[in-house]
Amino acid sequence: MSEAEKWMQEALHEARMAAVIGEVPIGAVIVHNGEIIGRGHNLREHGQDATLHAEIMAIQEACEYLHSWRLEDCQIYVTLEPCLMCSGAILNARIPAIYYGARDPKAGAVRSLYQVMNDTRLNHQVEVHERILARPAGEMLENFFRAIRKRKKAEKKARRAAAEKKLN
Ligand SMILES: [Zn+2]
Repeated sequence: MSEAEKWMQEALHEARMAAVIGEVPIGAVIVHNGEIIGRGHNLREHGQDATLHAEIMAIQEACEYLHSWRLEDCQIYVTLEPCLMCSGAILNARIPAIYYGARDPKAGAVRSLYQVMNDTRLNHQVEVHERILARPAGEMLENFFRAIRKRKKAEKKARRAAAEKKLN
């Protein structure tokens, strides 16, 4: 297992913690001098807060740890390609390198929809490494959404059965 995969395992662990509580499974960790100094997983539903993405929480923890808004000499590992908000936060924190798993064709701002981390109009660019353990990260998301669809289908069926019972 490569060094990057080792850290991505930690991000996947965070993603699993989100899945356990019914949140979309996305996790992130920030590494500084070979040590994790920030962790986060998606908590949008529990917090009813649009900004509670894994990356934001990991960045907040890392800034607190270093007593600095500049996360120089850090790497961020995220299970899914970051959105615009998180890419913006990574740029603002001056994180030099990102490693992520699966691409997000619907919201990804690193490669899929936008390429903000390599936009030379900004005063900071981020070194991008993608598809690190992309398969387990993607599978975790697929399983999560499959379970949701299955549950919704079952609920619909139950409602229909109840309505039919009422009619008879
Ligand atoms: Zn995000």
